[in-house]
Parts: sequence; structure tokens; C-alpha cells
Amino acid sequence: MSKLKLQHISKSYGTNHVLQDVSFHVDDGEFVSIVGPSGSGKSTLFQLIGGLYAPDHGDITLDGNSVNNSRGHISYMPQNPSLLPWRTILQNVLLSSEIVGSKDTGNALELIEKAGLGGYEDAYPHQLSGGMKQRVAFIRSLNSPQSIICLDEPFSALDEFTRFEMQGWLLAIWEDYRKSVLFITHNIDEALYLSDRILILSNKPASIKKEIINPFPRPRKEELLLSDEFMKLKREIHYELRG
Ligand code: ADP
Ligand code: MG
Repeated sequence: MSKLKLQHISKSYGTNHVLQDVSFHVDDGEFVSIVGPSGSGKSTLFQLIGGLYAPDHGDITLDGNSVNNSRGHISYMPQNPSLLPWRTILQNVLLSSEIVGSKDTGNALELIEKAGLGGYEDAYPHQLSGGMKQRVAFIRSLNSPQSIICLDEPFSALDEFTRFEMQGWLLAIWEDYRKSVLFITHNIDEALYLSDRILILSNKPASIKKEIINPFPRPRKEELLLSDEFMKLKREIHYELRG
């Protein structure tokens, strides 16, 4: 059974027809990316999956249960890390598990260490760089009880070098934890470097234009980004997005 499944999802905001018959799934432990032009409805998809809005048509299921218009089933990481400024790093990471009443700090401390943030447990968000804040937001998602994480262009506000570092870091930590991930990006390199499968969205009203099964084995190394096979697939996705 698929972890997350969207079947024939359509959504309009008034006369603005954003999504048209979108269907896809994410399997257990799979890393799936969605790439699409800006304004094509990527964030809207997440809002539907997160239950903030109901789809006009279609069904969203998580582990076989309908989650249409029902919140709290996914862990969501937005573009902006949205840490609470008055809470320490440890307290921010614990936020996602506190919601279900857990007081277990062991796992959170381990994640902070793995994120290279050891020693910053008691620091406050304003003392951290942009990349560090993003790492906190991501490990907070990993520490949540929800079994799927949805990331909406999490690195797009970072400078290129930091983004690249963050991708490598995310990959390493994800390869350890293997939680199901749905990742939105408009960056083709990022999608190809990180995911198992890539779904290409068309322009608005968006539907899934093409699915690419990522052929590159894990663990993936930086050199991959400069290889001919990588470039070839990147070009293919680029033309698909344009066409
Ligand atoms: P993307 O994330 O791919 O850039 P969005 O999902 O944010 O695209 O937006 C898709 C379209 O839906 C845009 O035309 C946007 O103006 C519109 N839209 C997004 N959210 C809302 C909303 N809450 N109310 C009305 N229109 C919205
Ligand atoms: Mg968006």
C-alpha cells in the first residue's frame, strides 16, 4: 500500500483553475520530488495534503485512510524555517513531538548532534545562520510522529553555496532515517540529486506531465552533479518543463 496517494485531485480558487486531475503516490521510505513552474500550484498541493483546504474533486489517502480536509497527518516544512524565537534550539526541535505529549529529549539531542548543531541546544534562533535554522526546521520534521515529511522549496532562500551544503547534509541524514519525503522544488539539480522519483508538473491548470525514475544509485556523491548522465537527464527534464 502506498504511504500517500492522491487520486484525480482538482482545485480552483474561484475562477482560477490551479490543479487538474493530479494523481500520484509516495511509497513508504521513498523520496519523491515535484518540480514545476512557479505559480503552477505546488504549494496548493501541499495545502491540500496538509488538509488546509479540501480538493474540489478527488481523494487523498494516507496509509489507506482518507485525509481530505483533515489536518495533523503530515509534517510540513515551509520555505521559511519558522522557528519560535523565544524557544531554544532544543525546545524548537521538541515542538513537533510535544504536540503528541512526548517529553523524550534523547532523540532530539541525537538529531541536533547529527545536524552538526551540537553545542547549540540552548542557543536561540537569532544566534544561528540561515542554513543552521533550516537544519533545525528539518530535524524538527524528522522528530515528528508523522510518517511523511512535506518540504516546500526549503532551500530556495539560501545562497547557492549554502544550498549545496544543505542538500548534501539532507541526503546524508535522510539516508539514515528513510522517512517518506515529498519535496517541492523548481531546481532540477536538487530534484535529481535528492530523489528516487521526480514528478513534473505542467503549467496551470497543473497535472503530472511526466514521471522520471531516478537511475542514480545511493549513496550519492557530489561528483554525480557533474557527470554526463546527470546532465543528460537534467536536459531532458528541462525541456519537459519548457515544452
Ligand atoms: P506554486 O507554489 O507552484 O508557485 P501556488 O500553489 O502558490 O503555486 O499558487 C498557484 C495559483 O493559486 C496561483 O495563481 C496563486 O495566485 C493561487 N493561489 C494560491 N493560494 C491561494 C489562496 N489561498 N487563495 C487564492 N488563490 C491562491
Ligand atoms: Mg510555492
